[in-house]
Amino acid sequence: MATVISYGAAEVVTGSCHLLELDSGERILIDCGMFQGREERRNYGAFGFDAESVDYLLVTHAHLDHVGRIPKLVKEGFKGTVAMTDATRDLATVIMLDSAKIMKEDYLTRYKKEQRRGREKEVPQPLYEEKDVMAVLDLPHIVPEYDTPFELCEGVTVTYRNAGHILGSAFIEIRYKEGNEERKIVFSGDIGNDNDMVLPDLTPCKSADYLYVESTYGDRNHQKALQSIEELKTVINDTLKNWGNILIPSFAIERTQEILCILKEMHDKDELPQCQIYLDSPMATKATAIYKKYAEELLSDECQAIKKRDGTVFDFDGLNYTLTVDESKAINDVDHRAIIIAGSGMCSGGRILHHLKNRLWNRKNAVIFVGYQARGTLGRHIVDGAKWAKIYHEDIRVQASIHTINGFSAHADQSGILDWVKGIDGLQKICLIHGEEDKQEVLRDVMGERLHEKAHIVEPEEVIYLS
Ligand SMILES: [Zn+2]
Repeated sequence: MATVISYGAAEVVTGSCHLLELDSGERILIDCGMFQGREERRNYGAFGFDAESVDYLLVTHAHLDHVGRIPKLVKEGFKGTVAMTDATRDLATVIMLDSAKIMKEDYLTRYKKEQRRGREKEVPQPLYEEKDVMAVLDLPHIVPEYDTPFELCEGVTVTYRNAGHILGSAFIEIRYKEGNEERKIVFSGDIGNDNDMVLPDLTPCKSADYLYVESTYGDRNHQKALQSIEELKTVINDTLKNWGNILIPSFAIERTQEILCILKEMHDKDELPQCQIYLDSPMATKATAIYKKYAEELLSDECQAIKKRDGTVFDFDGLNYTLTVDESKAINDVDHRAIIIAGSGMCSGGRILHHLKNRLWNRKNAVIFVGYQARGTLGRHIVDGAKWAKIYHEDIRVQASIHTINGFSAHADQSGILDWVKGIDGLQKICLIHGEEDKQEVLRDVMGERLHEKAHIVEPEEVIYLS
């Protein structure tokens, strides 16, 4: 009997890593992501399975918590075939290289610090380096097209379908034989929010015997898109009119492009007060270039229309891409009316930290959180109402106005998940993954009440029998 074991994203949001083992002995790993926030240390532990024994790796999308440990997998002996869409491959390359760079920088900083105490040997080596990322790209690979089934190996057919979450994202349908019977298991990866302006909506899933579904926002519904956009516009207008500045900690992929689209629309409609906008994130700049590359193939009708009209989906006067450290530092001299979009999205590193340190104490400024803030991150600390924030060993008073606008989430909310699951015929088992346990409990109960489906919250390394 086939089994699935979740070695990550079980009762937590990050570290996605699910191993499907078929009766035929084939071992298929779905995602191999990094743990983030307070789970981070787990990245340095063992996978829990033998990397060398895995035959295939199917990647749902390019977020770090879905691809961040692939180079480690390869380093530990994985030699199988990798399947990911073209856009995912491009974005994942940027993400994995950036992750290698950050780990190297962190390692050097900690090494120097511990050297003073003679404890430098205790500093853990980075999980992987740039060359390990390159090794991932050298593996045999399959580039799936949406809605086009392909044979992974004898008796196993895989279909990628648009998940509407980030560029290139997919949920994955796997058909396999057990005896004479055909079975179908679906891994949702992360599924998108129909409010998304940049991407087409999530594709319905018609049928499945078994479903592994994400539950990040299983306990709540997002604001409507229009309401969120209005709220964003209000904060921007009020802050700029008051000669303040706006910081938007943003995820490099998807959220940044969505925010750029909204700002461009404001600009084009003369709704944006005079200001300078800085996309102060080399990674977001690279991601935006990849979005531009696939604009005609993968972006929403709305974006296609903008592209036809202006020749560009994201660019407008007043938008500056700051790439070098000097350009980034120069933003500190801008006294008023700047909108600074910088990573990381949860304020756990990156250039946003400098900007927060410089501007968080000032009542005139505003910080707008437009994405999920995991437990244990600085972003979550600020969103939860902290009066002080520790940034670069300094306590900074939180006096800027803090706004959380959740309608921009790249994740489906509770009703989005329920609607999608409702459309799936033949379900025998629903497993909830990729969510904090309390939120999963809410989703499980609601699924029971409204869909009469009994969902199971998967525990770490629990063996799920597909029967
Ligand atoms: Zn994701």
